[in-house]
Amino acid sequence: MSGIDSKGHSMKRVGGEETRQAGSLSVDSWLVAAGRDRQAGAPLNVPMMPASNFVLGTRRVYARNEGVPGWEALEEVLGGLEGGEAVSFASGMAAIAAIFDQIPANALVALPADCYQGVLSLAEAGRSRRGWRIERIAVTDTIGWVRACDVADLIWLESPSNPLLEVADLDTICAAPRKAGAILGVDNTFATPLNQRPLELGADVSVHSATKFIGGHSDLLCGVVIARDASLCADLRRTRVLAGATPGALEAFLATRGVRTLALRLERAQRSAEELAERLDRHAGVSCVRYPGLRSHPTHAAARRQLKGYGTVISFDVKGVATDADGVCRRLKLIQHATSLGAVESTIERRALHHGQEHLPETLLRLSVGIEAVEDLWMDLEQALRAG
Ligand SMILES: *Cc1c(COP(=O)(O)O)cnc(C)c1O
Repeated sequence: MSGIDSKGHSMKRVGGEETRQAGSLSVDSWLVAAGRDRQAGAPLNVPMMPASNFVLGTRRVYARNEGVPGWEALEEVLGGLEGGEAVSFASGMAAIAAIFDQIPANALVALPADCYQGVLSLAEAGRSRRGWRIERIAVTDTIGWVRACDVADLIWLESPSNPLLEVADLDTICAAPRKAGAILGVDNTFATPLNQRPLELGADVSVHSATKFIGGHSDLLCGVVIARDASLCADLRRTRVLAGATPGALEAFLATRGVRTLALRLERAQRSAEELAERLDRHAGVSCVRYPGLRSHPTHAAARRQLKGYGTVISFDVKGVATDADGVCRRLKLIQHATSLGAVESTIERRALHHGQEHLPETLLRLSVGIEAVEDLWMDLEQALRAG
């Protein structure tokens, strides 16, 4: 039993003096106020505009190229959140693929050992088609990452990682000298823009699967890259046009609506996650709880230093064998047995069932805590663990 090293509900700090947006609004206000048309008579929200083409004579010609108005609203909100320019995509993978598309043939690509499977597959395609060399580095191997910065063409970090929730020492790694022309990217999906701002630490790009926390309701696919370098943003936009990796009008609309409540959703879900992580840690049917806020977590110190909050995802091992863990998933009533994370509803799954995740403990469950009442979530977990 190790206990949560509480941040005293960090959203106060995020919204407080330390993080200011363009126009000097706090993050919480920026989420609500940005990306709106304030002219008299304008609708408060940029309306969804399903359109492929426009009457010629204006800036907009064809939606795959210049987009629909909803993109701009979403990009304004997300860019301002992390202090860069946002380029939105059809999914998180489309966003990541656009970055990987900038990497030349025969490049050296550094990836985390605990890496999102889609990204690993993308890099492996680069190995067979473009002669990339791939180096896998443990999330916690700061010296290995610093060394990679010196020689690699793409340095790709995911922090906190999936599903072990290890936090990389981004302060050190992002500040390390990089090979000329290299791109250092951070997949910021698990942290959210409210808990971590990689561009401020020195990353070139920050990426989100907006399918997760930004959308927040399990009803869309969307992705975003945020960068400071204008020519890199132009290259990413060009790739988006050529690949046709554009977000749909409905998705951009829903993602913008979803992100308005991100601060509230995260505050609630994060508070519940801290509570549930502590209780799971004391539960006799659970053998190991991985949550960056627990003092026992291997990268708790980095999490404490770097993240404004510890997030809403908890990974824990059920005592017994795989079928015991499957039984827990089956018996849960409120918590949905489903993949993905970052939504209003809590979801849980056994990660070793996924292709490429066979190295994980077979009883590891990844729980994404939603915004339901914490006591209801705990009752559900208790009954599912007890019946085992
Ligand atoms: C889901 C996810 C992705 C991929 O995003 P999609 O929107 O599903 O394409 C990439 N990275 C992380 C960390 C994710 O959780």
